[in-house]
Amino acid sequence: MKDLPGRLVLLGHPVGHALSPVFQNAALREAGIGLEYEAMDVPPESLAGVLGQAKAGRWSGNVTVPHKEAVWAACSQVTEVAARAEAVNAFRASPAGIEGHNTDVEGVSAAVGSLLGRPPADLTFGVIGAGGASAAVLTAIERWPGCTAIVANRGHARLERLVARFSSVARAGDVDEITSRARFVINATSLGLRDADELPIDPARLRSDVPVLDLVYARDETRLVREARARGLRAGDGLGMLVAQGAAAFAWWFGRPPDTGLMWRAARNYIGPDAHGRSPMR
Ligand code: NAP
Repeated sequence: MKDLPGRLVLLGHPVGHALSPVFQNAALREAGIGLEYEAMDVPPESLAGVLGQAKAGRWSGNVTVPHKEAVWAACSQVTEVAARAEAVNAFRASPAGIEGHNTDVEGVSAAVGSLLGRPPADLTFGVIGAGGASAAVLTAIERWPGCTAIVANRGHARLERLVARFSSVARAGDVDEITSRARFVINATSLGLRDADELPIDPARLRSDVPVLDLVYARDETRLVREARARGLRAGDGLGMLVAQGAAAFAWWFGRPPDTGLMWRAARNYIGPDAHGRSPMR
C-alpha cells in the first residue's frame, strides 16, 4: 500500500450533513487503515490557507460544493479527466504541490451502467442542469461510444458556455425536447433536495423504457425517483454515484479498492432504505 496521508479530509461548505464520512470510515475500518475521514467546513475565504496546511501535512481527501473548481485551479498537476471536467473532487497533497482527480465521472458511469444493466453506448442522453455536476456527466458521455446529450438549463448563458465546451457530444435544448427525444434522462440540477421542489422533468411524459438518474439524493429517495418508479421506469437517486465516486477516490488514495458493498450498505443504512434495498453498484 502507498504511504498513508497525514489526514484524510472532505473540504466543503457546508459539510454538516455530508454522508462521505459515514461510508469512508466504514471502508477504512474494514481495510485496517488507521485514519479517520474528517469533514472540514471551509468557507471560501479560508480555502487557500487550508490548502497550504494540506500540502505541509501531506493530506489527501475529497472536495465538494463550492470548492471543486477552485481546487482544480490550485492544483500543480491534474489527471486527464479532471482537466476535462475543470473540477477536482479528490486530491493528494504534498509539499511539492497538489495532485487533483475527478472521480465524479467514474461515479456517474457506475450509476448509469447500473441502471442500464450494461456499459453505456449509442444513446441520446437528456441532461438537465449546467453546473459542475453536469460538466462531470458530459465528461463521462464524451467517453461512451456513440453517445450524445441534449442539455437544458434554467440559465441560458451558463448552458451555452457548457455545451460549447463539449460541442462534440452536447447541444443546447429544452426539457420538452429531452422529454420527446432522450433515451436516458439525468437530473443534474439541485432540484429535489426538498420534496416541495418542482420536478425537473415530468416522468409521466417519458417513454416507459427511458431510465431516470437523479444526481440528487435524499432520505426516502427523491420525488423524481419515486414518481418515475411509480410509472414503471427504471430510476435511481444520487446515492449510487456518491458511493461510486467515493470508492474510486479510496482506490486512488490507497492503491487498493475498498469494499464497495460495505460502503453502500453504510450509506443506505444511514440515509434510509431504498425501494428495493439493493446495491446499485455492480
Ligand atoms: P451547481 O454547479 O451549483 O449547479 C446547480 C444547477 O442546478 C444549475 O444548473 C442551476 O441552474 C440548477 N438549479 C438550481 N436551482 C434551480 C431551480 N430552482 N430551478 C431550476 N434549476 C435550478 O451544482 P452542481 O455541483 O452542478 O450540483 C448539482 C446537484 O447535483 C446538487 O444537488 C448536488 O448535490 C448533486 N451532485 C450529486 C453528486 C453525487 O455524487 N450524487 C455529485 C455532484 C453533484 P442555473 O444555472 O440556472 O442556476
